[in-house]
Amino acid sequence: MRLTFLGTGSAFTLDNYHSNMLLEVGDQRLLIDCGGDVRHALHGHQLSARDIDAVYVSHLHADHIGGMEWLALATYFDPQCDRPTLYVNEKLADELWDTCLKGGLGTLQNRIAHLDTYFEVVRIGKNQSFTFADTALQSVQMVHYMDGYEIVPSYGLIWHARDGRQVFLTTDTQFSPNLMKDFYAESDLILHDGETSPHKSGVHAHYEELKGLPDDVRAKMWLYHYQDGPLPDAKADGFAGFIERGQVFEL
Ligand SMILES: [Zn+2]
Ligand SMILES: [Zn+2]
Repeated sequence: MRLTFLGTGSAFTLDNYHSNMLLEVGDQRLLIDCGGDVRHALHGHQLSARDIDAVYVSHLHADHIGGMEWLALATYFDPQCDRPTLYVNEKLADELWDTCLKGGLGTLQNRIAHLDTYFEVVRIGKNQSFTFADTALQSVQMVHYMDGYEIVPSYGLIWHARDGRQVFLTTDTQFSPNLMKDFYAESDLILHDGETSPHKSGVHAHYEELKGLPDDVRAKMWLYHYQDGPLPDAKADGFAGFIERGQVFEL
């Protein structure tokens, strides 16, 4: 099992591509989020839409779903491609189509298209996991931002590597150590949203906040979704480090 960070940047990155990953289990490839620049990031690894078996969507920001129209059309019009499987939380599936994708993908000649025209849709229910290849991935609701008075989550992932280690991938999340502390404690490898902008956005865990976590948590925590420009010395601050674009985790 191998996890490759196709990108490690924030939504506005010019240097590091969006924070999308590729999880390879055997010969199956799962794209974890599909941002607007993902086709370039994949191309950098000599990969294309044709190489993607499935895609997971954590939430509906463009750095996570902005490439979905491309993936849908590139696979739909390629006779060598089957529909990719789309794993998406049941609360997001209709909104993904109605508010993000319908304008571009609902325009096929002589065909009324829906989300399942392009994808084999697997809706993930509350507290559910899904199985990709032979690996169970648990969806974990993370607090991303408030829409007025309503929490809008992003759905992170927890799974077990081949070597038994528990991996916790946050996707986009606020700093919420009380909610996360059990997941931090039980996971062996934490791949965490780590904002580095001078001013805290409030919707991402900021590096200065993460520095306050206990030593044993920081030691197993890698940071991504950071801003372009110089980075702090994460290793000196007790973290495993900042993930570099293209970095591979053999799991
Ligand atoms: Zn993001
Ligand atoms: Zn986001």
